[in-house]
Amino acid sequence: MHTDRSGLVAALDIGGTKIAGALVDDHGRLVVRAQRPTPAREDAATVMGAVAQVLEELARAAEWPRVLAVGIGSAGPVDASRGTVSPVNVPGWRAFPLVAAVRERAGGLPVVLVGDGVAMTAAEHWQGAARGRANALCMVVSTGVGGGLVLNGRLHTGPTGNAGHIGHISVDLDGDPCPCGARGCVERIASGPNIARRALDTGWRPDPGGDRSAAAVAAAARAGDAAARASFERAAQALAAGIAATATLVEIEVAVIGGGVAGAGDVLFAPLRERLRDYATLSFASGVEVLPARLGSDAGLVGAAAAAAQELGLWTPPTAG
Ligand SMILES: [Zn+2]
Repeated sequence: MHTDRSGLVAALDIGGTKIAGALVDDHGRLVVRAQRPTPAREDAATVMGAVAQVLEELARAAEWPRVLAVGIGSAGPVDASRGTVSPVNVPGWRAFPLVAAVRERAGGLPVVLVGDGVAMTAAEHWQGAARGRANALCMVVSTGVGGGLVLNGRLHTGPTGNAGHIGHISVDLDGDPCPCGARGCVERIASGPNIARRALDTGWRPDPGGDRSAAAVAAAARAGDAAARASFERAAQALAAGIAATATLVEIEVAVIGGGVAGAGDVLFAPLRERLRDYATLSFASGVEVLPARLGSDAGLVGAAAAAAQELGLWTPPTAG
């Protein structure tokens, strides 16, 4: 029987719409939760005020004295080396010193910061589809495309906490300009909004006043709509090229894909597995498996805790399970 005396990590998952918090145990269970909407259009202090409220609510829990550290997964870019965050969707925070601000409100506990893609990767490696895999790429395909890497059995964060950010690898040299400044990025083709945009541009006609999301495009693709199907095939091609590049560079065995767009199921995964054969051609890259993510909306919290536990050596390594 699991003892309830073990240490906990206070996890924060900071995004453009909500700030979620939880106390996470060494089995990945969320024993206490708290959440606030992100005041994303407000100034830096107001956004931090919402984070402080989440922390205060967690700190009122009876379990708080067992907390050993705080793990933060934040929308990026983040800079873990400086302890700052500059989330694209939170303009009030630019190089905001989040680690110092959280440490001050958490009684001086150690604080570990990673990007949200890296956090999701930590979660899938600990509890999900990449469990037991020594080398993996995990991706979130949603409003944007993020990701992270497991190398040699460990979460690979990179110096600033952004390693594995596959959404901004270019897979189309002269492709459309990406908001990041480059061209033809994976995200510019495979994110939900870009899948929907391309489907609309090429003749998909949603019901008047109806849903124009990637989920609606997926439903149309399943119903046989050619433009909807082609847009998902193009997204699958971009993801396949990015996965193949990663497999060739660092010999991943598995690519795990989560996020809302992954909810399209076979509309995405079938062409993705097929196109991967076109790009991952060398013997050591051709065996890479593609799997859907297993953890849902709690992946950010579970992963923030796992990243902190690994960094600080709190729990047994995630691969031990
Ligand atoms: Zn880009």
